[in-house]
Amino acid sequence: MWLLPGALIALLGDLAWGLAAMLAGALYVISTHLRQISNLVEWARAPIGTPVPIASGVWDLVFSEINRRSRLMKDQRERLSAALDRFVEAGQAMPDGVIYMGPGHVVDWANQRAESHFGIDAQRDAGAPLINLVRDPAFVAYLDSGDFGEPLVMKPLRQHRLTLLVQLVPYAETRTMLISRDITHLERLETMRRDFVANVSHELRTPLTVVLGFLETLADGVDDLPAEDQLHYVRLAREQAERMHRLILDLLVLSALETGAPAPAEEEVDVATLLDAVLREGLALSSGRHRITLEIEGPLVIRGSSKELHSAFANLVSNAIRYGRAGGHIRLRWQATGDGCAFSVQDQGEGIEAQHIPRLTERFYRVDRGRSRESGGTGLGLAIVKHVLGRHQGSLEIESVLGEGSVFRARLPAQRLVRQATDAAA
Ligand code: ADP
Repeated sequence: MWLLPGALIALLGDLAWGLAAMLAGALYVISTHLRQISNLVEWARAPIGTPVPIASGVWDLVFSEINRRSRLMKDQRERLSAALDRFVEAGQAMPDGVIYMGPGHVVDWANQRAESHFGIDAQRDAGAPLINLVRDPAFVAYLDSGDFGEPLVMKPLRQHRLTLLVQLVPYAETRTMLISRDITHLERLETMRRDFVANVSHELRTPLTVVLGFLETLADGVDDLPAEDQLHYVRLAREQAERMHRLILDLLVLSALETGAPAPAEEEVDVATLLDAVLREGLALSSGRHRITLEIEGPLVIRGSSKELHSAFANLVSNAIRYGRAGGHIRLRWQATGDGCAFSVQDQGEGIEAQHIPRLTERFYRVDRGRSRESGGTGLGLAIVKHVLGRHQGSLEIESVLGEGSVFRARLPAQRLVRQATDAAA
């Protein structure tokens, strides 16, 4: 009879202990999980890249899976970020300006070249509509027009010395990319080309008009003209034809030098022979109106094109004769300089005002147009000299005193020297 309640109590006692043990076990498990969850939450809140916490059991599986994904994502992020860096670097390296814009032409990103083209600051101006930053009316009209088939040529107000070719390229429905190219240099070349064509036409028109006039006079009544006048007209026409011929020859030389002519022949040039020929031509041109002397004190052999150097040196001598005072001394000198050698031509002519000197090597630039024409000048001589010297890594130096005369010095660098002079010749 007492056994049953006793056994029940004993049983209940064990059960209570069992339950207590179970409860304790459950609490332990729950607290372990809670701790792991708390670790997980803490890790999730930590900065990206924080290592995943260490765990055991099932959480080890969970964490290692999260760890694997997190590593994958990190790799992916790094790859994306590297790709983005490369795109940004490529955008910065572009020779053209690039501005990416969102709807309403709001600036998203611009490379440094675009910043300098438009005078904007990509970081400061990000988010601002481009037309608030670049207010040139033609540019604003271009952006508003919606017609971007043709590029726009503009001189930005903030950078008025630049000429830009800008083109808007729409993409991704609402986005646009503005590409700007600096064409200042091309525009200058185009202006030079136009000036050149105008100059050549002008130079040819005058003698051609004269020749045509004579021909018409002769055609109208050759029988009515005394033979003497006929001869006079023919002589004048021939002079003008010669002038045109000289001009065309100089133009051909200049264009051969300017337009991709091959580098000058690297032959060994005997300086004495070259300068002797230049002197003889000078004496013939002067026909006794000047005293011309030659002194050779520099290297005897140089490397270069003897034809080109002859044409350059002869041009300088011909100028000294044409602009030099009759009866004056023209001194030709070949000398060693600290950094190479130089051929100088000194005359006792009228001299040149300082303001003209930097422009003398421009094609068709003349101080006195009438004097140049009278003496058979084409206005291209010094341009040819400058090109020839440039092709030999040399340069032209001009010194002049008004009323006293000028010195034109053609300098050649040390790399052109082959053999130094041992003794001076005169
Ligand atoms: P041009 O055929 O007119 O002589 P150049 O190119 O040889 O053309 O020279 C350009 C200009 O430089 C000349 O028109 C002249 O005004 C000036 N010039 C050149 N050489 C001399 C010089 N020795 N003395 C004075 N003026 C000179």
